[in-house]
Amino acid sequence: MNNPLNRRQFLKSLGLASAVTAFPGIIKAASSRPQVIVVGGGFAGATAAKYLRHWSNAVDVTLIEPNASYNSCILSNLVLNGQMNLSQLTFNYNTLAQKYGISVVNDWVDNVDGINQVVRLRSGATLPYDRLIIAPGVQFLAVPGLDNSKVPHAWKAGPQTTLLQQQLAAMPTGGTFIMTIPGAPYRCPPGPYERACVVADYLKRNKPGSRVIVLDANASITAERTTFENAFNVTYSDMLQYIPNAELQGVDSDQRIAHTSMGDYKGDVLNVIPPQAASEIIHTIGLANVSGKWAGVNPLSYESTVMPNIHVIGDSQGTGQPKAGHIANAEAKVCADAILRLLGGNQPYAAPMTNSACFSPISSTTASWLTAVFAYDAATGTMQVVPASSGEASAPSSRNYSRMLDWAENLFSDTFG
Ligand SMILES: Cc1cc2nc3c(=O)[nH]c(=O)nc-3n(C[C@H](O)[C@H](O)[C@H](O)COP(=O)(O)OP(=O)(O)OC[C@H]3O[C@@H](n4cnc5c(N)ncnc54)[C@H](O)[C@@H]3O)c2cc1C
Repeated sequence: MNNPLNRRQFLKSLGLASAVTAFPGIIKAASSRPQVIVVGGGFAGATAAKYLRHWSNAVDVTLIEPNASYNSCILSNLVLNGQMNLSQLTFNYNTLAQKYGISVVNDWVDNVDGINQVVRLRSGATLPYDRLIIAPGVQFLAVPGLDNSKVPHAWKAGPQTTLLQQQLAAMPTGGTFIMTIPGAPYRCPPGPYERACVVADYLKRNKPGSRVIVLDANASITAERTTFENAFNVTYSDMLQYIPNAELQGVDSDQRIAHTSMGDYKGDVLNVIPPQAASEIIHTIGLANVSGKWAGVNPLSYESTVMPNIHVIGDSQGTGQPKAGHIANAEAKVCADAILRLLGGNQPYAAPMTNSACFSPISSTTASWLTAVFAYDAATGTMQVVPASSGEASAPSSRNYSRMLDWAENLFSDTFG
């Protein structure tokens, strides 16, 4: 299939033959099939790569990801209390390569020439694209004094998750666990509160007399407020202290002290979740035009509002939709569908919807959930919550806990399988 005739046949069949003669950018690729490059093999990028090929045999898809495997943040709080191990949350790209014919390149993208439509890899290689999807997740912004080898954030699953688990296991009975939560928006709105509950439950069962202090830069709990207020004020009231408006100013990593606008707090284990922004590559290319942190995109296609033919999905996008893996998977499908339509000379679907879902363990046997459906609003060009289709669990339950495992397995398999 990879020859000039097939490329021309494909363009003709899609009504693009005239474009080939009209636009130099398309002539550049006239000797091959349309090339779509996906940067980042997380929930957003892996899903986009998979569905581009699942829905079309007429495009070549290259996935560029530096790591041979991916550690899911989803469920990673359960590594902290020993209920799961990281290997259960680790996925490779073999199925994407073998079943879907995606070229997987283990490399970093260091820069993109958006004018000539070329991606530059750290290895020195360059790759041309017709459409580029960038899904690089978040970067963690600098916090004065923070040394992650002593004070892990564990907000990207991997070695820091293991380190935090080891620190909790070694914490003295009757000790204090302190965590800080950055101002919104950050990756996984309910995630920090979920972590506070999982750790409180673990300490209650294993290290009685221990305390949890949650220092939140936000004015109040940012997600599932009733559920977490109940968990903090009832379930863990004897051991957990929640302090809002605690803006992090710096860290003493050796002494494990968090300096905040509400005072200094010293713990036996300190877990600082730093403020976040779209990953470095988004800033390098100059796509971070939302608050100087996130990439503005058209939610019909996730095409950048700065640079044509570049699409941004997942945690890096700045549509106002939550930064979460389930909705990253949904954005990826909207984006993949739009790109195939655009390559065919058509317009993106005009009424896309997306869905976010987060299950949160509240203890080792119970969980809660939160879901939100978003619909495109043509009047404002934005994604808006559909209140009638959104909501949260009325109370944590063991049934929700087992549903959480089913939900995650489905999401993992839809993304990587
Ligand atoms: C504790 C915790 C619990 C969570 N629970 C939930 C939940 O219940 N539900 C939910 O929906 N979400 C949850 N999330 C959030 C979810 O994990 C993230 O929103 C999701 O991982 C975002 O996916 P992404 O593909 O945008 O980014 P990532 O998963 O971070 O993937 C980005 C990928 O891009 C690669 N990359 C970065 N830069 C480059 C580059 N320059 N070149 C090449 N590759 C690059 C990285 O190596 C990485 O593999 C949770 C997060 C945490 C921390």
